[in-house]
Amino acid sequence: MSLKVNLRHLAEHGIHLEGELPVAELDLGVEDELIHLNSPLSYDLSVELLHDALLVTGSLVLPLDCECGRCLKKFKTELKLNGWAAHLPLEGEEKVAVDNDSVDLTPFVREDMLLDFPQHPLCRPDCAGLKKNSKASQTEGSEEPKPAVWAELDKLKLK
Ligand SMILES: [Zn+2]
Repeated sequence: MSLKVNLRHLAEHGIHLEGELPVAELDLGVEDELIHLNSPLSYDLSVELLHDALLVTGSLVLPLDCECGRCLKKFKTELKLNGWAAHLPLEGEEKVAVDNDSVDLTPFVREDMLLDFPQHPLCRPDCAGLKKNSKASQTEGSEEPKPAVWAELDKLKLK
């Protein structure tokens, strides 16, 4: 079930990889009580062998079950990387590990998914949060929430 490319299959022509990778295999290692990973990652990738590297392009979609950081409402979203591309050298200092003629793409997928992983899930960008006990309601209607400020506040709250 892992996301591997067999270099022998690639020698002749490019290959297409399509399927699902269990979250356990992806092993993102994120511990966020507001974001739950209950569904596998879907991948749809093309792999080409270049002169001395692999070029992987395609899309990655990971469904996320979130709870809004402000109002605690549950909602579903997706972490989507459309037009994902990875250039994996097969030679030189940066070369990728090859095991049994196969390259495991999982670490590269993991790395880029983590870079795009949501830090503060919100049911909608302008969620006003809980009505009760919310100091934010004082400014309700008078001005648009400023995303940067809210992000800072959320950070403080989560600590
Ligand atoms: Zn919300």
